Amino acid sequence: MQRPSFHILTTIVLGLWTVTGQADEPASATKPKIKALIVDGHSNHPWWETTPILRRILESSERFTVDVATAPKQLREVVNFAPDFTPYQVVMMNYNGDDSVTRTGSANWSESTQKALEDYVRGGGNLSIIHSANNSFPKWKEYNRMIGLGGWGYRSEKDGPYAYYKDNKLVRDDSPGVGGWHGTEHPFQVITREPEHPIMRGLPTVWMHARDELYSHLRGPGENMKILATAYSPRKYTGRNVDEPMVMVLTYGKGRVFHTAMGHGTYSMRCAGFVTLIQRGTEWAATGEVTIPVPKDFPAADTPRESGIFRQPPK
Ligand code: ZN
Repeated sequence: MQRPSFHILTTIVLGLWTVTGQADEPASATKPKIKALIVDGHSNHPWWETTPILRRILESSERFTVDVATAPKQLREVVNFAPDFTPYQVVMMNYNGDDSVTRTGSANWSESTQKALEDYVRGGGNLSIIHSANNSFPKWKEYNRMIGLGGWGYRSEKDGPYAYYKDNKLVRDDSPGVGGWHGTEHPFQVITREPEHPIMRGLPTVWMHARDELYSHLRGPGENMKILATAYSPRKYTGRNVDEPMVMVLTYGKGRVFHTAMGHGTYSMRCAGFVTLIQRGTEWAATGEVTIPVPKDFPAADTPRESGIFRQPPK
């Protein structure tokens, strides 16, 4: 007599699972949202145009709530800027400021704000580094350790080796020279180098990114760093015929860092590939896992594609 009732119970339980599995909500929708802070206010790029795009990219995934901390406009002096990083699971740097007063229009952070970011990441806070945020703070040693690779601001061999792929092998090149370069903007192919990393799982091996600056000659400490994707930078675009790092992940203390060299213009950021990487990379930085799916409109190898999120009303 007991067996049939056990069987009935099993059927009911399985029935419940089936209903749950068929729900329209993605698995991520049931998770608490990730609190993200975008930092902007200084850049040689129009941060007031790119921050709304980055916010939309994060919010459209329904995985994030986004706040923005904008540094005050003060030139050639220490900025009185002290955002509280601690309530956030991830801080996105859409910021290119200086740590000296030698560059016109730049501004630096106070030592206590720098220390606050270091403590935040070291203690398990996390970073998402966008494009020219890797030009920022060239002399701030710990920032350079957090981003792994950087360019411009008189970066050179003193800051660490160049990192790139040549003949499908990772090269760390100690040769002397300045860090940071790009030629004319153009669409370019991005090549996956770590297909098993959670951010990259399910992405094509090769896909076409929209028009962007192809950063080359990045160099830095590169500690605890993995290069997830590269792009070939040919001589005709003033590159050096090697595959330059485009997507990196690092750890710094207990913190995780996602870093992409892509994202010069709003048109670059509207690329479906860029959107996917920002969502998944920032989710990985915040949580150590990726639940945001690769969309159906992900670009193929030959043609860039604009993300469908820009054809929907903002969330
Ligand atoms: Zn740029």
